Amino acid sequence: MPLRAKVATSVSKTAAALSRAAGRGDGSVIGGWIGLKIDPELLTHLASGRAIALVSGTNGKTTTTRLAAAALGVLGPVATNSFGANMPTGHTSALAKAGATPFAVLEVDEHYLARVIDETNPRVVALLNLSRDQLDRAKEVAMMAQMWRTALAGHPDVSVVANADDPMVVWAAQGSSHITWFSAGQRWLDDSFVCPESGHPIERANGDWWCTGCPLRRPQAQWRVEDEGVVDPRGDWHLVKLQLPGTVNIGNAATALAVAAEFGVRPIEALPRLSTVASIAGRYAQVDRDGRNIRLLLAKNPASWLEAFDMAEQAPTLLSINARDPDGFDTSWLYDVDFSPLHNRPVLITGDRAFDLAVRLEVNGIPFRHVLSFEEAIRSVPMGRLEVIANYTAFQDIRAELDRVN
Ligand SMILES: [Zn+2]
Repeated sequence: MPLRAKVATSVSKTAAALSRAAGRGDGSVIGGWIGLKIDPELLTHLASGRAIALVSGTNGKTTTTRLAAAALGVLGPVATNSFGANMPTGHTSALAKAGATPFAVLEVDEHYLARVIDETNPRVVALLNLSRDQLDRAKEVAMMAQMWRTALAGHPDVSVVANADDPMVVWAAQGSSHITWFSAGQRWLDDSFVCPESGHPIERANGDWWCTGCPLRRPQAQWRVEDEGVVDPRGDWHLVKLQLPGTVNIGNAATALAVAAEFGVRPIEALPRLSTVASIAGRYAQVDRDGRNIRLLLAKNPASWLEAFDMAEQAPTLLSINARDPDGFDTSWLYDVDFSPLHNRPVLITGDRAFDLAVRLEVNGIPFRHVLSFEEAIRSVPMGRLEVIANYTAFQDIRAELDRVN
């Protein structure tokens, strides 16, 4: 590495460590920021010589990154941004901190994918899904797909691992010369009813989809979820045992296996490592408190609320909504989500915007009780499981109350 990059790396690591020591989070953003100030090409320098996979999409990228990093661990040390700092500052910090590893798996915010592809020259890019995020900072989904498509067209040597079930992802990936398709399902359909190529309606039946006005249609998936397992490109079925809940996470495991296979890792080698992943930065964490087994589920946009309802057991459920900067200030997205899966279970609500949630549940005819604190929520449910579904800052608040559970 050039001298400037060496100095930048060292200062970046020190800044991150100081920030951590001062109790200001994990320090990866500030560390990366300072490093990039000293050497604007630091990410490129740190990436060079490593075989890298990037993981992007609206939902599931933190979990899939964690699973793919676990799978690649079969081959040797893997650098990864496991704290979810998924912009170039976070990538820079993660690579600086990891030292010289042969491999890296990086979660990338969908807005930054083009830049991070340019700067890290990845071997593999995994595209999970595209749907609306918090309303007031979402780029239109089709615009994001166009950005991805243009970015990949400039890097024909990259292997793309892409979700065959999402028309937006298929259209974005389609021009690449090396594509592996996986099928991880698409629970949220509202952002892909119109073909991004021709503007015609997209029709769906029995897991298949096709455009009614042009040749765009669902490609055959080489990796797919079947029962509690994953079918690989040779047609062999592998049982997937995870500590993470829901079919959604079996889909994330299928994606991780497909990414790892691009590096030569076989499912049979990777699977035992996937089963060791218990929670990711508090997501899916289970904590026992006063006889209640509390499980934390993060849900930050309409698609991920549907997934959270799928993962939650039929048990008392606490919903917490904030609308601070990282969450988006507009809570009208609550009306995009169908809350009817919460019928027939005790529902508690809390958070800065609990009353927005109250109105929404009222509309769905779901009885609920408002609690003022997480402690009160715990006291108001019987012994046993309490599911907690919260959006971004609400999730962090509850995680802090549970002593920053990981
Ligand atoms: Zn079309």
